[in-house]
Amino acid sequence: MTKPISEETRTLLGEFADTLDARRPTAPMLEPIRLARALVLSEVLHGVGEKAFAAEQDLLAAAPHVRPGQTRGEYAALLRLIAQGAVTVATLDQGDVTVPEPTWCRGHDGLPVNALVDLGHRGPEHRIGGDRQLFVAYLSQYPHGSACAVDLYIEPVSEPDAFDPPGAEGLAAALVEAAGQLRTLALQLAVVRAGEGL
Ligand SMILES: [Zn+2]
Repeated sequence: MTKPISEETRTLLGEFADTLDARRPTAPMLEPIRLARALVLSEVLHGVGEKAFAAEQDLLAAAPHVRPGQTRGEYAALLRLIAQGAVTVATLDQGDVTVPEPTWCRGHDGLPVNALVDLGHRGPEHRIGGDRQLFVAYLSQYPHGSACAVDLYIEPVSEPDAFDPPGAEGLAAALVEAAGQLRTLALQLAVVRAGEGL
């Protein structure tokens, strides 16, 4: 899981971007500058010590490695995007890619995805059907896939089974409960799509 960015890191990312934009924004951005700036900004905020060290580590975790050919201005724009709520994900075909992170996404593990089209946002899992779990459902979006809209992914998880009368009644009750849960999630999906203009 990626760690959510703290308010302090957000502030430092903004200050970092300001310093890059203020001086030679068209010059190449360099990895040693990234490391040095993270140290300086953290120590200006906290003074030398443990707090500065922690702030520096958080800032370096949020600020991606510099890519060859990136200018200071381009890197500053990337930092501002991340401060606003974007996530950087490693892909095997295009290297590190930074995309806006929806508020409903539960985050990304550190593992690289095969291709940019496989980069997916995934919301928290909902167990559908009460005690008798029938489905798992979660919001899902592949922003660079063929269908880029947010969808509700619904996966059946119950196995075929034989039932006596109370058992069949229990399944019917679970299906009624599942229908209510799915209607609620469908409404939530409509709200999310409306918010994203999809
Ligand atoms: Zn995400």
